[in-house]
Amino acid sequence: MTDRILIGELRQHIGKTVSISGWVDVRRDQGKLVFFDVRDRTGYVQGVVLPGNEELMAIAKEVRSEFVVRMEGIINKRPEKNVQADRINGNIELEIKALTVLSSSDTIPFEIGSDTSGIDENARLRYRYIDLRSARMQKNIRMRSEFVQRCREFLFNKSFTEIETPLLTESTPEGSRDFVVPSRLNPGKFYALPQSPQQYKQLLMTAGFERYFQTARAIRDEDLRADRGFEHTQIDIEMSFVERDDVMAMVEHMITETVEAMGFTIKDKPFPRISYKESMEKYGADKFDLRTEEEKEKGILAYAWVIDFPFFEKTEEEKWTFTHNPFSMPIPEHVEKLMTGEDIGDILTTQYDLICNGYESGGGSIRAHRPEILEATYKVMGYSSEETEASIGHMLQAFKYGTPPHGGIALGVERNLMNLTGETYLREVQAFPMTRGGQTAVMNAPKPLAEKQLKELGISIDKKNEK
Ligand code: ASP
Repeated sequence: MTDRILIGELRQHIGKTVSISGWVDVRRDQGKLVFFDVRDRTGYVQGVVLPGNEELMAIAKEVRSEFVVRMEGIINKRPEKNVQADRINGNIELEIKALTVLSSSDTIPFEIGSDTSGIDENARLRYRYIDLRSARMQKNIRMRSEFVQRCREFLFNKSFTEIETPLLTESTPEGSRDFVVPSRLNPGKFYALPQSPQQYKQLLMTAGFERYFQTARAIRDEDLRADRGFEHTQIDIEMSFVERDDVMAMVEHMITETVEAMGFTIKDKPFPRISYKESMEKYGADKFDLRTEEEKEKGILAYAWVIDFPFFEKTEEEKWTFTHNPFSMPIPEHVEKLMTGEDIGDILTTQYDLICNGYESGGGSIRAHRPEILEATYKVMGYSSEETEASIGHMLQAFKYGTPPHGGIALGVERNLMNLTGETYLREVQAFPMTRGGQTAVMNAPKPLAEKQLKELGISIDKKNEK
């Protein structure tokens, strides 16, 4: 058997006998001739079965769209009048000499030949593996992979170490609800899935790694919206011996190299910086879109940094709470205010948000690496010493053993991809997103547990709450 040639490389094989494998995109039966458009991960090509070989013709007549086939034949140049200049292999054709059906296909539940975004969400997610075959979804998911790979390469080149942190862990405050997991070994006790690796990445700084990153899953029980799901991925970074400008410069460099290598144009370099106060005055929000209509059409990316956010805001109960991250350090001039609890509302944090085309595409801060600073933050939020100890005692403890100054950031992979692809829904850049009702794609979760499992976990269900 001839070795498989990828469809994208067929133009180098004109006049030769080749073997290709892929999916039948379309079949056109013209009686004496049968045409196929066949696709693999690298492109499309037209194949034709000519009259003369009855056995072959019989197989060709059986084949339908989405069958998986292997075809052997000769790559011919198409006559000038049949050249399709707008298609990649528009000037060649496979004259099929042998055709093997590797797998047949039922009629697929919806068309995938064009943009599937208008198709019912439940159908698309139930048959996600079919939806993902469409050209737009293939492009989005591959672009996502390229974005992550380029960021990764950049970070490895800057001597970052990739380190995984636990998924079964303790609650870490990111301003959302936790998903919890019952513990069989400790009945009545629960793990929380991480809303972010925040505490572990800081502990890795105490542990002396100096430069950490991870393509991390963050899991937050939030109200689902177009651009928010329960799970998202973030490029999570932490660095030691840095100040605010060092982290911002490193991230700016990484984003610039990555998106420019992917062929995008950035509107302003270096990225403009604006204070929260100025942003609110000028745009009425802490995110804004700097592009003109024309730049929007051209797919230009307008990045900017927002800095100098207030550290605290009042809750509905008139208590102080953090605006972004309780582990942040105030700006150096305001550390004293935090320590003495003065002018709480005026304290600015070292938080920096990366904005792109009107959306927040990342955020981070320099952290409070000395225990007394972190304790002061919790005191402002009304925690007693005992409550602080119960919540973050392990961090205070770790910080007593020589923790370097450090800071970091997390970049939302989906948000960045939405900006790159121009998609408005998170589900267009995730392989297996959830429905708006929180139902998993393809698989059937959430669902009830068997009585035996519940018993093992020491859980009883309040039937009143069951839907
Ligand atoms: N923990 C923050 C988040 O997940 C990011 C950071 O401050 O590094 O949004």
